Amino acid sequence: MTTTWLEIACDIPAAFVDVVAAYLSDLSGTGVCIENLNVDAFSHAEIDHSPIKTVKAYFSDEEDVDARLREIEQFLHELEFRNPGLCLAMPVMSSVSSEDWSTSWKANFKPLRVGRRLMIVPTWEEVPPSSDDIVLRLDPGMAFGTGGHETTRLCLELLEGIMDDLPTLLIPSVLDLGTGSGILAMAAVRLGAGRVCAVDIDPQAIEVARENLVVNDLADQVECSTTPLEALIETFDIILANILAEELVRMATQLIERLKSGGMLVLSGILAEKEAFVRNGFSQTALEYRETRRDGEWVALLFKRVAAP
Ligand code: SAH
Repeated sequence: MTTTWLEIACDIPAAFVDVVAAYLSDLSGTGVCIENLNVDAFSHAEIDHSPIKTVKAYFSDEEDVDARLREIEQFLHELEFRNPGLCLAMPVMSSVSSEDWSTSWKANFKPLRVGRRLMIVPTWEEVPPSSDDIVLRLDPGMAFGTGGHETTRLCLELLEGIMDDLPTLLIPSVLDLGTGSGILAMAAVRLGAGRVCAVDIDPQAIEVARENLVVNDLADQVECSTTPLEALIETFDIILANILAEELVRMATQLIERLKSGGMLVLSGILAEKEAFVRNGFSQTALEYRETRRDGEWVALLFKRVAAP
């Protein structure tokens, strides 16, 4: 069903965003959306903060939205009055339909080939028939990981290479730290891993990952949880961590502790300019640096554990 919503958008200087967002959130009862004008980043930490942000609130078209608009204008005038020098643009109203919201992004998510054999196919698309491909069905929902991001693709390529090079008898255990949509964990199983443990600090990501595992018939083969890295006790043959440079370096010691002797560590989510920082953070004697793989402005690093744990 398509519901029509009215969006009221206010351009607000950063220092006043919280107060306006709190007001609009109370008024609408449906929460607000705060848009930064310069968002093209992998994480919140990397967003270039713009001095003006757009705070958007949504009202059902069954409400008296003109009255709401007048209330908002009044609120903004009072805010200006209490803060001499502050000059606010008046809110802009437009209509959106909820169907557009939930489906418009899907138009950009198409079947995608990664590495030699992996094929990532949105759950709502037909699978193009082809014999050797490893097909992963994916609905990223609110979690990160459609395979479209360079950082995910770099991990998948390195993982495929690691699996190709393994001795035939070894069925490796894998830790996917920061699983998001579950894409790396699913690829690991389909490429021949044994026990796969997928964790994420975000419970919503774990929910999405679980749904994707069910769709791919892999629910029994991946253990999904919000267990933090420091609470994991076992060691793994392969660890995949597509997080961010600073977070990876912060977790370096614990990550290495969870890696078996001879095990492989894939670090991704690293902007090229932060490669040296991460390599430095992982320069312990227990690790041997193997490879840097680059895609656009991102790099992924491959290490091997040499000393016994
Ligand atoms: N593995 C997916 C998703 C990567 S996005 C892919 O490659 O596409 C990074 C994920 O790491 C996010 O879902 C985030 O919630 C999670 N994350 C961030 N810090 C974490 C930490 N310290 N421990 C576990 N998960 C973490």
